[in-house]
Amino acid sequence: MWSKRAPGVQIKTPAQLAFMWEAGQAVAAALRAAAEAAAPGVTTAELDAIVAARIDAAGAVPSFLGYHGFPATICTCLNDEIVHGIPGASRVLREGDVLSIDCGASVAGWHADAAVTVGVGAVSTAHAKLIGDCERALWQGLAAARAGARLSDISHAVERSVRAAGEYGIVEDYVGHGIGSEMHMDPPVPNYGRPGRGPVLAEGMALAIEPLLVLGSPDTRLLDDGWTVVSEDGGWSAHFEHTVAITAEGPWVLTAPAAGVLAGNQVIAPPAAAARQPLPAG
Ligand code: MG
Ligand code: MG
Repeated sequence: MWSKRAPGVQIKTPAQLAFMWEAGQAVAAALRAAAEAAAPGVTTAELDAIVAARIDAAGAVPSFLGYHGFPATICTCLNDEIVHGIPGASRVLREGDVLSIDCGASVAGWHADAAVTVGVGAVSTAHAKLIGDCERALWQGLAAARAGARLSDISHAVERSVRAAGEYGIVEDYVGHGIGSEMHMDPPVPNYGRPGRGPVLAEGMALAIEPLLVLGSPDTRLLDDGWTVVSEDGGWSAHFEHTVAITAEGPWVLTAPAAGVLAGNQVIAPPAAAARQPLPAG
């Protein structure tokens, strides 16, 4: 967990953030394609292939493939699986499943990381609410990612949104993270906690905020495959993630569609046309 002695948080130049935005747009398009393809009868290996093709077509490099030996371009988690699930040809989606898809990519060595959760076909009311509440909590956290705020203001905003929404377990074993020249960097970004603590957020920082909610206990268990994390008591889970840059104009959600996204009453959009333009390499 983060402490005041934690190493400094990487500061990105506008050119580096532009590369991250480019990577983020590749991730956003790939996740959208996978989410649209997720239907009963489709396998998670097929979704992995769709995402791999999109990332490649965008000229980006998958961040997950080969990461500590991870064998795929995306992580896919069904139902009680929380995070780091491996896509497979034998994992067939069924009506009513809750599926999370997590994807990272880099451009010129600069990473972006995002995740979505979708219902496969029609899902139960409780599962639809879980999905919606998790995404809303993410956006509350993103809205708190402002220069001059403290890191735990993000954590607190996520937790407050979750607590207001219902009786959920907030996973503590896996948290968000800094991101930039590597996918996982300091600082850890928990999805819970008191406000006003941790590093002061500064222009040029980038964070991956990713609430993991469970219907039940947030305790986790690692499966024998060495990757897949499931809820200990079998409760179903949802996961949303965006990569956000701290800018003078406010939070810049690098993995959201370029046109900007409405979160509550607040439009969280790219701050400046100039920064949106991919810069030439070198
Ligand atoms: Mg991710
Ligand atoms: Mg992440």
